[in-house]
Amino acid sequence: MSNAVPSPAPLRTDVLVAGAGPAGLMCAREAAGRGLRVLVLEQSPLPGRKLAVSGGGKANFSNRRISPLHYRCGDPAFCAPALKAFSPAVMERLVAAWGLPTEERAHEQLFLTVPARNLLHCLLDDLRARGGELRLRQRVLAVRRTADGFDVATDNGPVLARAVVLAAGSPAWPQAGGSNAGFRLAQALGHSLVPPFPALTPLLLPPESLAAPAPTSAPGPSGPDAARRVGGSRRLPPAARPAGSPPEPMRRMPRADIIEARPHDGETLAGISLPVRISLPEADLAPALARDPLWKDDLLFTHEGLSGPAALKASLFWEDGSPLEVDFLPDVAFRDMLDAPDAGRRTPFSLLRQHMPQRLAERLLPPDLAQRRTAELSRAARERLCAAVHARRFRPAGRADFRKAEVCGGGVDAREVDPRRMESRLVPGLYLVGEMLDVTGLLGGYNLHWAWASGMAAGRAVPA
Ligand SMILES: Cc1cc2nc3c(=O)[nH]c(=O)nc-3n(C[C@H](O)[C@H](O)[C@H](O)COP(=O)(O)OP(=O)(O)OC[C@H]3O[C@@H](n4cnc5c(N)ncnc54)[C@H](O)[C@@H]3O)c2cc1C
Repeated sequence: MSNAVPSPAPLRTDVLVAGAGPAGLMCAREAAGRGLRVLVLEQSPLPGRKLAVSGGGKANFSNRRISPLHYRCGDPAFCAPALKAFSPAVMERLVAAWGLPTEERAHEQLFLTVPARNLLHCLLDDLRARGGELRLRQRVLAVRRTADGFDVATDNGPVLARAVVLAAGSPAWPQAGGSNAGFRLAQALGHSLVPPFPALTPLLLPPESLAAPAPTSAPGPSGPDAARRVGGSRRLPPAARPAGSPPEPMRRMPRADIIEARPHDGETLAGISLPVRISLPEADLAPALARDPLWKDDLLFTHEGLSGPAALKASLFWEDGSPLEVDFLPDVAFRDMLDAPDAGRRTPFSLLRQHMPQRLAERLLPPDLAQRRTAELSRAARERLCAAVHARRFRPAGRADFRKAEVCGGGVDAREVDPRRMESRLVPGLYLVGEMLDVTGLLGGYNLHWAWASGMAAGRAVPA
């Protein structure tokens, strides 16, 4: 007779969900509500860690104006069916039914007015009430397709499931548990990845790129000397040359609106925040997206580059080596200010200074024009001034890494997934939801809404 202790019979379930983030929990509560046995395994000691910190702790959980245009995806039409089937209005009703108070903020963003973890608790309560089970500190290690379902290896033994939902998120924000684990599970099952990259993250600038642009013609009598007067005797504007140095040659400024990279005096713009309109002149954006009012938002200068909502949004569609264009006066035409009848004795600097901190006005204006009386300015000079303020280009050196990225661009190739069911086209019975997929939304509630919508699509589709 053998002394071997028989290993316990593997756990069996209808649906195994890997990951208790918003996508996995929404999927699990929906499937459990349909009477299926649902087991959610979460590697971390806490579920929904990103949800709990989202929106500054108040969860920007959706947006009243959502379309596939607000997402970056290799197949732009992919997210349409799930978004249509689970609209922001449906999510708003669900949140209201849970008794959670909300508010609408700029750009039709929907936030809670109570902590985000209240929303997490509603999801968890719903899951429990419907008979679903959540187990914490249990990592899904491998998923193997069998004749009648899946054999799932976990660090607490095997689980047999009829369907598996991969809801394991992305490597963004590792401080809250972000990792590549989900991508690896999908790849092991034959899925391919659109290369992941940090998104909704600050853009890095070479330090010299905040220097003022050089003149396109030899400076007039008020050139370098006038520039030196900007801001009084305290500061020398960064691009001003020492007296007697030769004028900047024209060839150094091939385009009036491209920032010339030159060393500056070390004075930093860090800490300045102001509303701008940001655009990506070389990105292949759909015209409706390029015109979208959401590109008007706050920009924050940091010691490393550009942050704030405007820069984070741009980071999603920015391509390496391409420029950003910033309109620093999105609501006022600088041209009208320069041309105003009572502006003749004023200088461009004094006019611009009314709308932004002095340090920034100094950097933006061409030094040879900043302190001229506007009455003396030629049409070409006015155009240069307007381009410097309304169409200022920056060439980021890169993106900040995943530790600062709210989300991950790229992910499991959407062409390998059914857009109505979120079911793998390669492995029947396998579902992929949320940020694991190559669907990344702009800042504004689009990513949580994608988690809800894709999770709901899979929760409705897993077979009973
Ligand atoms: C700081 C911050 C603020 C944000 N604010 C907003 C906002 O206000 N609005 C908005 O729309 N979006 C916001 N986002 C983005 C949003 O939080 C994510 O897009 C969303 O959480 C993705 O949901 P998910 O369920 O796909 O993945 P996740 O939330 O990442 O959940 C995945 C879960 O899977 C678990 N897991 C991973 N691997 C395994 C494994 N092998 N086995 C078991 N479990 C595993 C993880 O621990 C995690 O709990 C924010 C993100 C961050 C980082």
